[in-house]
Amino acid sequence: MYRSHKNNALSLDHLNENVVLSGWVQKIRDKGFIIWVDLRDRYGITQLVFDAERTPKSIMDQARELGREFVIKVEGEVIERESKNENIPTGDIEVLVKNLIVLNSSETPPFTIEDDTDGGEDLRMKYRYLDIRRKPVQNKLIFRSKVAMAVRNFLSNQDFVEVETPYLIKSTPEGARDFVVPSRMNAGQFYALPQSPQTFKQLLMVGGLDKYFQIVKCFRDEDLRADRQPEFTQIDCEMTFVDQEDILNTFEGLTKYLLKEINGVEVDEFPRMTYDDAMKTYGNDKPDIRFGMKFGELNEMAQHKDFKIFNEAELVVGIAVPGAASYSRKEIDKLIEWVKRPQIGAKGMVYVKYNEDGSFKSSVDKFYDAEDLKAWAERTNAKPGDLICVLSGSTSETRAQLSALRMELGKRLGLRKPNEFAPLWVVDFPLLEWDEDTQRYHAMHHPFTSPKVGQIPLLATDPGSVKANAYDLVLNGNEIGGGSIRIHDKKTQAMMFDYLGFSEEEAQAQFGFLMNAFKYGAPPHGGIAFGLDRLVAILGGQESIRDFIAFPKNNAGRDVMIDAPAPIDDAQLKELELQLRS
Ligand code: ASP
Repeated sequence: MYRSHKNNALSLDHLNENVVLSGWVQKIRDKGFIIWVDLRDRYGITQLVFDAERTPKSIMDQARELGREFVIKVEGEVIERESKNENIPTGDIEVLVKNLIVLNSSETPPFTIEDDTDGGEDLRMKYRYLDIRRKPVQNKLIFRSKVAMAVRNFLSNQDFVEVETPYLIKSTPEGARDFVVPSRMNAGQFYALPQSPQTFKQLLMVGGLDKYFQIVKCFRDEDLRADRQPEFTQIDCEMTFVDQEDILNTFEGLTKYLLKEINGVEVDEFPRMTYDDAMKTYGNDKPDIRFGMKFGELNEMAQHKDFKIFNEAELVVGIAVPGAASYSRKEIDKLIEWVKRPQIGAKGMVYVKYNEDGSFKSSVDKFYDAEDLKAWAERTNAKPGDLICVLSGSTSETRAQLSALRMELGKRLGLRKPNEFAPLWVVDFPLLEWDEDTQRYHAMHHPFTSPKVGQIPLLATDPGSVKANAYDLVLNGNEIGGGSIRIHDKKTQAMMFDYLGFSEEEAQAQFGFLMNAFKYGAPPHGGIAFGLDRLVAILGGQESIRDFIAFPKNNAGRDVMIDAPAPIDDAQLKELELQLRS
């Protein structure tokens, strides 16, 4: 037997009991005649004491040889501690050791395995298994498991069936590049790893399964941005005989359940906002609505004077920063520098101080009088004491820049509180998105998304204005889920492929299986997928998703622990009939 108790279990209730414990040596204090050892396992820490007067000499000698991270099993008696530790559940007792077995020794670990470690990020990633021994990391993985269990619990109670779909498939176009896997048995041919199980879940609906979900790995070969992983996990769902309303209600239910089960918070409000409104009011399709600072468009009240920069702009737009009229010149200059950084890309920023006494002081006093500025204040909802920040330029760039500024100021002013949860459905997404590189329209969500009823004729005249039955669930400024009602008839799907620039042969080659399936009574269906990694991080009140992944990749997409990706040997290449460029 390795243990009679876990290392968080013993208390004064167990006084004088004989116990067996196993675990890792976290800390050793050797006072010569008496040695204390902190013994750790996943559950906690128990203090062991080796006392020359009461512990056999051979065991004392062995104890002196122990080092950090040795794995040991001890047998001993629970006794009361002299100096108690109120911070841990076992803090009233210690175990007087009578027998010790070293199960394994350990080299000195490259960093300390304690809640606060001296190990840097790179080192901890290289020795991730040691990092995982630390409580804060273990807690995050346990938290993730709890969230995944709650998801399964809720969905299976609602009759969803968990189905596994294949990882070796043909590419699904979802906007990113595919990871591909060469096939040895079919030399010169490749599988693709799924960017999502999109077409498979639709086929499950054609198969009559009615409600499907899967907690599933997805793979996207994108240029890595901070906190993006090339492989990530989705809670992927699909339902039959539903319209958008049914889906929003079901997954509002899931989100409420998770917030209640995991965070103990009741959230009733799931407001909805159209994509157009979100862009206009927050400059962003995933607005954080925990705080105000809504955009005020100022074109009509800023383009009537001689200020050329505004007059030439497609959009002039401002936000009121609460209480910031008191910012010094230096602080405002810093803000201007911030929006001018290449990551944000603004050319400059106009500011207006709306002073407590109701007067205005702006960087454009030469052009605008108090009446003009008063109108700006009204449009941006500024109160006396606020600072109005105004950006201008092309609509899409200016919105993105001001949105970045809004989020930054929200953070600096402490308005983005991690314990406050504000979900939001963003609905009525455009069906198509113009792509500058290829000079054509692409599906904004994916090519299986259905346009809104009656909007198909608009494809011929004003494609950019066609709206889709597509929706995102946003939580605290993060997109946590997105989905759509799908096209389920062959004709519309063929038309969509045609519209997106697939020739009939290409559409047939890539999606023949789906089009075929649509010939045999495909029911109306729709679904959604949540990003589990991000969802878990948000529920855990953290920014970084990496901490919640057991073995994450770094920002360059590498696993530094197993050192992947890596070359394969010539024999393997030959077998796959692959040749490397020399
Ligand atoms: N497959 C989609 C995605 O990964 C989600 C969906 O439409 O259900 O974004």
